[in-house]
Amino acid sequence: MSIPIPRRQLFIDGEWREPVNRKRLSVTNPATEEIIGDIPAATSEDVNIAVEAARRALSRNGGKDWASATGAHRAKYLRAIAAKVTERKSELAKLESLDSGKPLDEAAWDMDDVAGCFEYYADIAEALDKKQKSPVALPMETFKCHVIREPIGVVGLITPWNYPMLMATWKVAPALAAGCAAILKPSELASITCLELADVCREVGLPPGVLNVLTGLGPEAGAPLASHPHVDKIAFTGSTATGSKIMTAAAQLVKPVTLELGGKSPIVVFEDVDLDKAAEWTAFGCFWTNGQICSATSRLIVHESIAAAFLEKLVKWCENIKVSNPLEEGCRLGPVVSAGQYEKVLKCISIAKEEGATILYGGSRPQHLKKGYFVLPTIITDVKTSMHIWREEVFGPVLGVKTFATEEEAIELANDTQYGLGSAVLSKDLERCERLTKASNSIWHCLGELLTAMLLPSTLGRQETQRFWPGTWGMGTGQLLECEAGDAVHL
Ligand code: NAD
Repeated sequence: MSIPIPRRQLFIDGEWREPVNRKRLSVTNPATEEIIGDIPAATSEDVNIAVEAARRALSRNGGKDWASATGAHRAKYLRAIAAKVTERKSELAKLESLDSGKPLDEAAWDMDDVAGCFEYYADIAEALDKKQKSPVALPMETFKCHVIREPIGVVGLITPWNYPMLMATWKVAPALAAGCAAILKPSELASITCLELADVCREVGLPPGVLNVLTGLGPEAGAPLASHPHVDKIAFTGSTATGSKIMTAAAQLVKPVTLELGGKSPIVVFEDVDLDKAAEWTAFGCFWTNGQICSATSRLIVHESIAAAFLEKLVKWCENIKVSNPLEEGCRLGPVVSAGQYEKVLKCISIAKEEGATILYGGSRPQHLKKGYFVLPTIITDVKTSMHIWREEVFGPVLGVKTFATEEEAIELANDTQYGLGSAVLSKDLERCERLTKASNSIWHCLGELLTAMLLPSTLGRQETQRFWPGTWGMGTGQLLECEAGDAVHL
């Protein structure tokens, strides 16, 4: 089942290039702790070369460059990339799974989304041709005024490891559709498929310099990209701490920056829910992709009258989640991404215990797995709002639980967070769901009468926060997922 990891170089100006200092970083399979390959480690010298290549891509051929080409022209490349990703789907999914610990079938779904995202932005690139220049009506006839939409220029894209190729695509596809030239710096913890994305672009003949991929460490490759004077915009997804550094660097140069950062999102469960379905959704919200999702609903706020019965159901769910090597059939929870992340998750659990919380389920590695960075799905009760486990993002399969008596109390608990990224409410009373949505301080909402429809928080959020015009880009592909009554989540 396993396949060799291709040994790639940096992708600059349409070619593979050895990093200037010739250094490489080893790649570990988080399921086995074995070193399975290595990636080039770029530094500021490579960043300089890539930025020059990207600038050339925007100015070569006497104006017949990427930026001034028609959207329809750019769309052809985006569609070719989508087709190639689909053709290579099974190989790419395996590489993603080996590198990040993601269950193989989830990695395959990511590849479908990657292809879908390139297709989506191909449509948008084509539609841009009709919107390049629009007149603005002025009260005085002496003046003529037009809005001309043009790409922002060279963009730096810095991404995390939880959805390696997909997260990169959410930035690369819109940037390319807009006519920008891009330099992608993926996470050093999961870069393999981003190098394969470069290979896909090479295979379809994307003009040199339009996409450059620099792998390497954050401070060595990401920081010089963020502070480079000839990079016109930075789009970053990652931790709040790094986002703050990137914003500071951008501010020094008064450069625009888009940040997508961490979360500690609540899921509020009312007493009128179908307990089985609510348990299924709660498990999905917190344990999908090992809780390594910015909008993971990692704070359960459950009505006190159903708390005991609900937690019993949730524990049953956890007992049935298959934790295994991600290449194994039926795996729903692979390892977390790295040794560092594994230690961080276990540390958060041990702080919770020290602070007086109770581990209702999990809290450790599964006994049957001796190697690999595996953590059982974990439910923690007797939580106080002051506790680390309630306030800080774990980015692992760990759910903190509190109960509430009134709607007002639920809202207060849900909103008592520094993050405000996502939220979910489960109730059959849709008016109540709407009230909670309005009262919520998060930007993404998921609400539902469990027996009729359910919207997933992040996908709904992406729909709502979708923005696109030349020179800038949105947060995601804009897919809105609705589940009908009886749909299983298969966690
Ligand atoms: P991270 O901040 O450690 O790293 C993200 C990227 O930034 C990596 O490519 C890293 O190499 C780079 N980086 C690190 N230091 C840098 C520096 N000084 N200058 C420039 N670049 C630097 O985050 P992570 O651990 O890879 O990802 C997990 C975090 O990402 C979590 O907090 C999660 O919530 C967040 N995230 C948010 C979203 C969202 O849409 N809001 C989505 C996914 C992940």
